[in-house]
Amino acid sequence: MSEPANRRDGRFRNPWPIATSHRFGGFLRWVLWERLTKEIPADPDPSVFQRAEPAFRSPRAAADELTVTWVGHATVLLQLGDVNALTDPHWSERASPVQFAGPARWVEPGVAFGDLPPIDLILISHNHYDHLDDGSVRRLAAAFPDAAWRVPLGLASFVAKRGARDVEELDWWDETEVRGARATCTPAQHFSARTPFDRNRTLWCGWVLELGGRRVFFAGDTGYHPKFGAIGERLGPFDMALFPVGAYEPRWFMGPVHMNPEEAVQAYLDVTRGSGGNPDRRCVMVPIHWGTFKLTDEAMDEPPRRAVQVWTNAGLPRDRLWLLAHGESRELTDRHDRTGHQRI
Ligand code: ZN
Ligand code: ZN
Repeated sequence: MSEPANRRDGRFRNPWPIATSHRFGGFLRWVLWERLTKEIPADPDPSVFQRAEPAFRSPRAAADELTVTWVGHATVLLQLGDVNALTDPHWSERASPVQFAGPARWVEPGVAFGDLPPIDLILISHNHYDHLDDGSVRRLAAAFPDAAWRVPLGLASFVAKRGARDVEELDWWDETEVRGARATCTPAQHFSARTPFDRNRTLWCGWVLELGGRRVFFAGDTGYHPKFGAIGERLGPFDMALFPVGAYEPRWFMGPVHMNPEEAVQAYLDVTRGSGGNPDRRCVMVPIHWGTFKLTDEAMDEPPRRAVQVWTNAGLPRDRLWLLAHGESRELTDRHDRTGHQRI
């Protein structure tokens, strides 16, 4: 039997030609040469980022509601009807294998762990330390023992070992059901590693979550790739799309694995293109993966500024770009039916 397109020789891969992620030699060139010889823009003080008091529905939203609360980085609390879901949960001080070194938190989590509502579903995109946090997995598994964990191929044992009980691994385009919500694993362009020896041994992905005709797309950690249009066609139209917009400099190194704001807006245009060439631009875009951990060389406040600029320059409606403050909750009040037409 031939291997699926996203696997080769026991490792996962991005099965389209443009994707080449740099290996260790590139990493050394970045940290030992570029960072020492080039001027890196200065960061502002973390206090430039506003914080907001969370206003999620407690304990759960009503059947036809959709709320989003940004905890920080790729950690988002989605309340889709009566399902409370978390993406890539991270409450630790560092995005690192050890808690005494590595990228430290720039701002506190927007929602204190103890304030979380009951969590039903946890969606993991991949195993990098800023997305799959050992301590947070353990805390969640202990606090919410009935939560369903849905992870890409190869990661079930990681969360099960740390106490998760309801665990399922999915491949790209596989779907599963949790409390009546459908979660579909989607392609992404990235890589995986937690040690020097496990590169691409586990898969990376995004997720589409659907309940009662509401659909949210969480793109995961990804470079710009050719499958966004297909994701929109197969699983849209979306009410909300969470796209990473930060950790993109230097481009020669980060380009294959992280989108910049220009690419994130292009990805938004791709997923909302709609079948038959009728764009459905009522989808809300929520920029994530910025302002929480210092991972790369762009200034910490550049991704949100640039996202607004690119969005406006593209002529997109400003009220469809939800640039959330850490902790901010918003509820989507309009909705689409299955054909993409708006209902009130
Ligand atoms: Zn990553
Ligand atoms: Zn990341």
